[in-house]
Amino acid sequence: MSTEGAALKHHPYIMNKVILLNSRPVGKPTTDDFKFIEEENPVTQDGQVLLKTLYVSVDPYLRGRMSSAKSYVPPFELNKPIQSGIIAEVLESKNPDFKAGDCVSGMLAWKELQVSNGKGLHKVDGQVAPLSAYLGVLGMTGLTAYLGLTEIGKPKAGETLVVSGAAGAVGSIVGQIGKILGCRVIGMAGSDEKITMLTSKFGFDVAINYKTTTDMKTAIANAAPDGVDIYFDNVGGDISDAVLANVNKFARVPVCGAISGYNETEVSMGPRVQTILVKNSVLMQGFVVSNYAEKFPEAIKQLAAWLQEGRLTYTETIVNGFDQIPQAFLDLFEGKNEGKMIVKI
Ligand code: NDP
Repeated sequence: MSTEGAALKHHPYIMNKVILLNSRPVGKPTTDDFKFIEEENPVTQDGQVLLKTLYVSVDPYLRGRMSSAKSYVPPFELNKPIQSGIIAEVLESKNPDFKAGDCVSGMLAWKELQVSNGKGLHKVDGQVAPLSAYLGVLGMTGLTAYLGLTEIGKPKAGETLVVSGAAGAVGSIVGQIGKILGCRVIGMAGSDEKITMLTSKFGFDVAINYKTTTDMKTAIANAAPDGVDIYFDNVGGDISDAVLANVNKFARVPVCGAISGYNETEVSMGPRVQTILVKNSVLMQGFVVSNYAEKFPEAIKQLAAWLQEGRLTYTETIVNGFDQIPQAFLDLFEGKNEGKMIVKI
């Protein structure tokens, strides 16, 4: 049997399943914006590895890449495979840097099988942490939480940190790091189950259900009697307007995301922030995690150490099946995930 034959024996697929971008969504994406196709199984060339997808990360930022608007990463192309963070197993290697059985993470296509020249792949060790953790707490969302909070938020013990999207992949880690660094931490999320989880599992001091609270400005003022020193913003919109109305002098606002607006077709208008920023000497800074790429190794080391010491924990919502990838992505906008949303193949 050829090497290819030996490798392909390990998986049951007759044809390779692939998910393409079918149309650019207007407003909220739907399953019609995705297209499933089947293609011939890939054949490994010299210098390449054959990868079998194990875990797929679905992330709110993919919504931005589905539109044609200019951003910090190029848009997905119509009728081409969508890509995201993926953990894959090397089925076959014709690249000296990898061997069959290695597990890797990388930005890969939504395909059951694919070949890669190895560029951008990082080996991950399932003995050190469950493989899915490399898409969350030990991957992009953990890095975003740690670097956004420490580089821009610069928390000091005794300060008050407010986190929106607090029960999600980034927010749940931000809040816990805030506690480790000695802050009083207030989180906002969209269900009573999430609110309970924030205080009981993740150690937040106060959690607010923004969907059942009518006056968010007052709720935050009550939860933060000394005012807000750091606001880690994952959602934008009305929630952020309410937090910004409570900031202290020299507050820092790392702007990580604005999911409340990702499906809007018109630019929404809230209070203009300039007066608040000037009056309180507030630093408000947007960022993308890749700005801090040179700090990734140090950040991962710290996150892994806290995990090992039991000072940091995480949760995941794991959905099963390649066919479920689009729906899992759509469910992010309905708040159906607790912690990191991951599809297991
Ligand atoms: P999450 O795991 O937090 O999942 C998304 C969550 O957003 C949902 O569970 C839901 O929780 C909440 N949500 C959905 N719609 C709304 C809405 N209209 N208003 C308020 N909350 C809403 O995702 P991530 O942790 O991966 O990402 C969080 C944010 O961070 C996103 O904005 C994302 O784009 C951004 N991000 C930025 C990065 C960067 O480099 N700057 C890197 C990674 C992420 P609920 O039930 O509480 O509503």
